Amino acid sequence: MPMPTEEQVSQVLGEIQDPELHRGLNELNMVRNIAIEGTRVGVLVALTIPGCPLKDYFHQVIPAKLKETYPEITEVDVQLTSMTEEERQALVGNLRQVAPAPFARSDSSTQVIAVGSGKGGVGKSTTTVNLAASLAKQGYKVGLLDADVWGFSIPRMLGVHERPTVVEDMIIPPEMFGVKIVSIGLFTTEDNPVVWRGPMLHKALQQFLNDVHWDEPDYLLIDLPPGTGDVAISIAQFLPGASMVVVTTPQAAAEKVAQRAGFMAEKTGLKVIGVIENMSFFRGDDGKAYDIFGSGGGQSLADNLNVPLLGQIPIDPKLRELADVGAPIVLQHSDTEVAQALDEAAKEITNLLPPRPKASKRIELPLMTMGGGHDHGHGHHH
Ligand code: ADP
Repeated sequence: MPMPTEEQVSQVLGEIQDPELHRGLNELNMVRNIAIEGTRVGVLVALTIPGCPLKDYFHQVIPAKLKETYPEITEVDVQLTSMTEEERQALVGNLRQVAPAPFARSDSSTQVIAVGSGKGGVGKSTTTVNLAASLAKQGYKVGLLDADVWGFSIPRMLGVHERPTVVEDMIIPPEMFGVKIVSIGLFTTEDNPVVWRGPMLHKALQQFLNDVHWDEPDYLLIDLPPGTGDVAISIAQFLPGASMVVVTTPQAAAEKVAQRAGFMAEKTGLKVIGVIENMSFFRGDDGKAYDIFGSGGGQSLADNLNVPLLGQIPIDPKLRELADVGAPIVLQHSDTEVAQALDEAAKEITNLLPPRPKASKRIELPLMTMGGGHDHGHGHHH
């Protein structure tokens, strides 16, 4: 059997994606040299940043993929270097061109859904995390922005702790369970809280929307701080087309505050599409549903806001236990009543807000050095 040509090797490399940027190596202009000697192949790859944590990944994946495709290859020598400042800037510029501050554009393919509540402790963040995981489980591309700047809990609930990679001034969000995550909590430590005030907060949120390589998800969920305020207003300003889901508990008191959040959302321009009632009941061993926190709050709020009740989530200690160890219940115990209620709510959301079609044509990156115009790494399979 003949050895592959340089072109063929290049093509295989183009099928390998950078695990953070989700683009093929050719498209990212990362392949710098290919040398073939007998049955041995040498490859030089330029990483986006020096000391990139992905070194081991490329040392493994490149030889494996080449040998799998061309069994006659006996040895693959992968050399890694890093991009120059100019190359990095060009790369970031090109990635931005593909998805420039995407959500605010009227032709954005992303459905943005803010999740709010009238007060803290109703399970808004827990619900948001599970909705995100459920949407990802259904095959959608999902982003999750933790804008609950004072009580950020998303990183813990999804078990994400490392600081995001920053290339130039572009933040590459860590991904967990198919959900891309950005939180203020990833840039500070819990014992070193940041005091966020109006203008600074506005700026930070803007950055989290514009300078993050979200890569056109189908859904971007935003965990708002409880109550009404600056964050909701900023989000509504940045993203005039965004929708909102309100989480409440069944008792009337919580309902009143949630209602305020609902009206507030309408004032700011976030369109409320539905209500989720959390902690609706506890299912005893006897099979009976016990209304621990009263009943009817979710439905009456939904009626007041003239939107559907998207779900009633039971109380389940497992939900909390799993959230504490970074494992969403919809993934860990999808057969439980609580997981099914959350999955149902996520489905209701996709019914109300079906994913938008992707913009017809992506801008082709003018970065090819070899291998020609193969369009690798764009396919989003649902
Ligand atoms: P919020 O974001 O509204 O402040 P959290 O999502 O942080 O609320 O939830 C508050 C607490 O309640 C957390 O400890 C969470 O694990 C727990 N919790 C939320 N929903 C449920 C539920 N349905 N069953 C049991 N515990 C829950």
